[in-house]
Amino acid sequence: MSDIAARLAELERLGLNRRLRLVSGPQGPTVLLDGKPVLLLCSNNYLGLADHPRVREAAAEAAMRWGAGAGASRLISGTMTVHRRLEERLASFERSQACLLFGAGYLANLGVISALAGPEDAVFSDELNHASIVDGCRLSRAEVIVYRHLDVEHLEWSMRRDRARRDGRGRRLIVTDSVFSMDGDIAPLAAIVEIARAHGARVAVDEAHATGTVGPGGRGAIAEAGLEGEIDVTIGTLGKALGSYGAYVCAEEDMVRYLINAARPLIFSTAPSPPAVAAALAALELLDERPHRVQRLRANARALRRALSAEGFAVADDDMPIVPLVLGDERAAMEMCQAAIEGGVFAQAIRPPTVPAGTSRLRLAAMASHTSADMVKAASVLAAAARELALDPAAIGPPPSRLPTDQQTAADHEREEAALYEPQALSSSVPFDHEQGTPPEHAPFDHERDGEFARAA
Ligand code: PMP
Repeated sequence: MSDIAARLAELERLGLNRRLRLVSGPQGPTVLLDGKPVLLLCSNNYLGLADHPRVREAAAEAAMRWGAGAGASRLISGTMTVHRRLEERLASFERSQACLLFGAGYLANLGVISALAGPEDAVFSDELNHASIVDGCRLSRAEVIVYRHLDVEHLEWSMRRDRARRDGRGRRLIVTDSVFSMDGDIAPLAAIVEIARAHGARVAVDEAHATGTVGPGGRGAIAEAGLEGEIDVTIGTLGKALGSYGAYVCAEEDMVRYLINAARPLIFSTAPSPPAVAAALAALELLDERPHRVQRLRANARALRRALSAEGFAVADDDMPIVPLVLGDERAAMEMCQAAIEGGVFAQAIRPPTVPAGTSRLRLAAMASHTSADMVKAASVLAAAARELALDPAAIGPPPSRLPTDQQTAADHEREEAALYEPQALSSSVPFDHEQGTPPEHAPFDHERDGEFARAA
């Protein structure tokens, strides 16, 4: 057996094997999944703009006007008028001085984090941050200090400890999702900004799941918290609520000028394609003209949550569009996903490494293009799927909560940190993105060559 076949067999044995499912047609409220019509309940096309006629037309027109591809990196020949136009529009949407497009949210996180932290520096990262943040931390070669999910007391404690340890040397960056991709909860941004100020750290916030879903006019969690102008770097994606593909970073002029010089994925990767950029421009215009789309999304989210609750699931009665139904076990999540598909609802099972071991789940996502009847149907299909597998819906709901930290002592935090740095006791072949604390030692970075950037520019 080859090593690849052995690894695949091990993933299968662990219930972690993945395969691509084929969706026919656009990301609408219903799709054909491997040829079968199903209600789509796991797309990040939150506002239903990916399949909106105006967005599609804008992409088609841009292809005719500017062509299909951008031809080169932003710094070579890839910055086109349509890029500049979207950057201006996004800067104004985010109430920011400047904006810079990237190829994808994944690339933006890699670029921002590795530009703002290096081997002498420290990055403080929420333990449930997205994999692209985790990978950005790795690329930076900074010391990565993982704090407990949403736990500002632990963050503060970690910063104080780090400051004493490194005697104030080095740059410090706090990085967090604003709306967490798999749990749908929101980072305590105001407290994070306060801690950053007190400790001389920068803050980068990833609004991938917040843009278009929360805040006034869908302007995100930073705007919702009244923190516009207070965050050093805001990262957003064009691939979710804005219905396209690509990403952006908003910051002050100098920061953007610096990122143009330092963010490797901007320097070394082809600029976003004109149709994708024009589609996002049209989506932003639609969001501006019809902000009630956000209300419709939130109303559908509430309808979904209420219908799930009426079916006995342990789901909170709020209007956050991401609804995790945590089953825990990997196979149980896969089986429930399959049973729901057979009932006509597609809600992909999410397993490690996307979520921590033991918290496998169906991650439901409402869209503005659903109807409230869709939501009721979805809940009833999901409940039938649970019953078919002899699972109790009352035991299926949000991720397990943790001990309140105000009951913890400094000694508890010491133990906690030791555990966060503990290497994962997972089989070597299981990918694990959200490791709890990237060990301080980093593998040497083979491909580093001084001057690479100068040549590309
Ligand atoms: N950040 C978060 C929080 C995400 O959930 C994702 C995508 N799942 C990304 C970044 C990456 O964005 P993109 O899909 O544009 O690469």
